[in-house]
Amino acid sequence: MKIFQNLNFVLVETSHPGNIGACARAMNSMGICNLSLVNPKEFPSKESEARAKSGRKVLDQANIHDNLNEAINTSNLVIGTSARSRSMPWPMMEINNLGKVINESLVRKEKVSIVFGNEAVGLDNEDLGKCDFHLQIPTSEDSSLNLSHAVQIVAHEIYKGSSSSDLSTQTREVELASSQQKEKLIEHIELVLELLDFYDHQNPKQVPARLRRLIKRMQLDKLEIGILRGILSNLEERLNK
Ligand code: SAH
Repeated sequence: MKIFQNLNFVLVETSHPGNIGACARAMNSMGICNLSLVNPKEFPSKESEARAKSGRKVLDQANIHDNLNEAINTSNLVIGTSARSRSMPWPMMEINNLGKVINESLVRKEKVSIVFGNEAVGLDNEDLGKCDFHLQIPTSEDSSLNLSHAVQIVAHEIYKGSSSSDLSTQTREVELASSQQKEKLIEHIELVLELLDFYDHQNPKQVPARLRRLIKRMQLDKLEIGILRGILSNLEERLNK
């Protein structure tokens, strides 16, 4: 389906090749074709091909990456999925809003990634921290779903949302920043804070993680990132004099 060409499902460090095949099948059934694999334990594999059935073309076109950043660099909206709540809560995406938010983004020609974790350990805090939102699929019990079941539910919500009659087609004044631009901004803030000797290294608390969350929550556009980077460069220059 054409509307989903800028949508990417990212599987991080999947252990079982059969699960990768089952995810490809689930995606394909909802017209979603772009699959990125970050350090899969075994790929390509006969088992994933067997489990993919009609989703074989999704597998054949899958991209392989060494790390999550590489897979989501160009994305303007990144949603991480996890059953677990975190001690430092990340901005949450309600499943009921998922289809609308993603389809509105795709209509604006933004790039969207949905990130899924490893079967045994899920997404760690570092990987979830690279996402703009955390999506928790509500369950009655046993909150941890099989990876491909989680993929199927998310894919179906997005598919349903694509035919919604109340999608806003309003474009943004300026395009949202990409994941890479936000990561570079965070790096730059950290560098300037180091130059200022701002961090109490004996007692760092959660300052870096809180700053990261603040940047992700703000949904900055490219122009705003440019302004902030300009201010930081100016500060950096003065501090290095
Ligand atoms: N034991 C792991 C669960 C891994 S399940 C943990 O504690 O996190 C494999 C992946 O499926 C997860 O990383 C997540 O991407 C997805 N998933 C499973 N259940 C989910 C749920 N209820 N909500 C959102 N994502 C879920």
